[in-house]
Amino acid sequence: MPKPFASSADTSPKSETLEVLADGVYALTSEGDPNVGAVEGEDFLVCFDARATPASARDWLDALREHTDKPVKYLVLSHYHAVRALGASAFEASEVVMHVDTLGLVRERGEQDWASEFARMPRLFKEPESIPGLTWPTLCFDGTMSISLGGDRGDLVLGHAGRGHTRGDAYLWLPDRKILFAGDLVESEAALYTGDAYHREWLGTLENLELLEAEVLVGGRGAVVHGRENVTAAITQTRGFLLGLTGAVASVHEAGGDIRDAFDAAHRELEPTYGKWPIFEHCLPFDVQRFWDELDGVEHPEIWTPERDREVWALLQDRG
Ligand SMILES: [Zn+2]
Repeated sequence: MPKPFASSADTSPKSETLEVLADGVYALTSEGDPNVGAVEGEDFLVCFDARATPASARDWLDALREHTDKPVKYLVLSHYHAVRALGASAFEASEVVMHVDTLGLVRERGEQDWASEFARMPRLFKEPESIPGLTWPTLCFDGTMSISLGGDRGDLVLGHAGRGHTRGDAYLWLPDRKILFAGDLVESEAALYTGDAYHREWLGTLENLELLEAEVLVGGRGAVVHGRENVTAAITQTRGFLLGLTGAVASVHEAGGDIRDAFDAAHRELEPTYGKWPIFEHCLPFDVQRFWDELDGVEHPEIWTPERDREVWALLQDRG
């Protein structure tokens, strides 16, 4: 039996949960599909991530509008991936904000990523014809950027904790409320996609996120995590996936094996703990290929295209 490509056979809709994390702080999670969030300022909203299409983004905005009708002043994108970025036009935001390295990725590989993600995860692309094109920023930051929320709401901080899931991942941090939106740098019981990652640097990036001492964490996928211990556990699980993957692939690489052996080793290592989590089988071939390339000295991830996706899938996951 051939394995269905990536998440192409995952067509059943997920149920969505809008959670109020604190006064004026919202997260929408959906059983392992990409999460989104919003933070109220005195007279404006900051939204975090945009979903795959404007039609899908409007479903989230409809739910949010039951709580607040403030206009979206800032739409922040955690990173450049299509399922986070291409719904941006629905927000009618005054500013679209991203890390400067994410702008570089949009320029360099945004088109290819759009085609790749559409083929990998078609269910997430509700009314794909509603996408007007790539999402370009009106504002880029390097280091950190603070937004004053007004009244007694304190500041919202956007930061870049180092390279990880991509080279331009932004997190959103509410220091007064200790709430962290981490994008795909941390997952909560969902497999990691590392096809655009810098695996070894990601470990240091996770340490930087831990230093924030968050009490509430919204990861890229999976449920909201409440409480310091559970936040630490989610970061530890994310680190465990990275260490298991890199350890298994590196040992085969060092022993002079081939990438298929590395995939089998990584699967053996990770499957018992992570195999039931969303997108595990989908992600693993792309993850192994990227880390294999890294071990071969390829600094920046090769660009994923639908053609390359299929080649790697056939090589590693669907050997007939
Ligand atoms: Zn991503």
